[in-house]
Amino acid sequence: MGVIPAGQAGRAGVEGAGPITNEDPYFKAMQAELADKGFLVANADALINWARTGSLMWMTFGLACCAVEMMQASMPRYDLERFGIAPRASPRQSDVMIVAGTLCNKMAPALRKVYDQMPEPRYVVSMGSCANGGGYYHFSYSVVRGCDRIVPVDIYVPGCPPTAEALVYGLLMLQRKIRRTGSIER
Ligand code: SF4
Repeated sequence: MGVIPAGQAGRAGVEGAGPITNEDPYFKAMQAELADKGFLVANADALINWARTGSLMWMTFGLACCAVEMMQASMPRYDLERFGIAPRASPRQSDVMIVAGTLCNKMAPALRKVYDQMPEPRYVVSMGSCANGGGYYHFSYSVVRGCDRIVPVDIYVPGCPPTAEALVYGLLMLQRKIRRTGSIER
């Protein structure tokens, strides 16, 4: 048995493509390795990315109505914590910033300041039409036409507002992106 395919297609169940069962190639490979040798072998990058995707602490940045759906995503019905994604109220211990709502010019420096306080590697999810491109307020004098003018965005979640399911899907896509990057350095 070779190296466990941690963070690869074997984790398809974790990515929402189907339930995790004993037939999941990831768990089958792990069980076989344990039965054969009594220990597991994996490369450091795979282990670190596995830990990284399984402990995404999100920095809440609720700016407007989208924030209500963001809160809903962490409530028991959607339960983001089952993916290891839990809220942190401090940027210094956060991995992901979810920009949920309309970003106005006055708030933009604060958004950037909070982003700058987050440690590397850090990721940004832009949630909703307003954060993605200004939304309804695209032509307003006071609104930033997309939070990607202020911070680098990894995942865009469309909708006005996006549903909690859409945000969960976006975060699963972020996990996939981190796995695909596949290196310790960002
Ligand atoms: S995208 Fe829609 S729901 Fe979200 S903050 Fe803008 S107006 Fe509100």
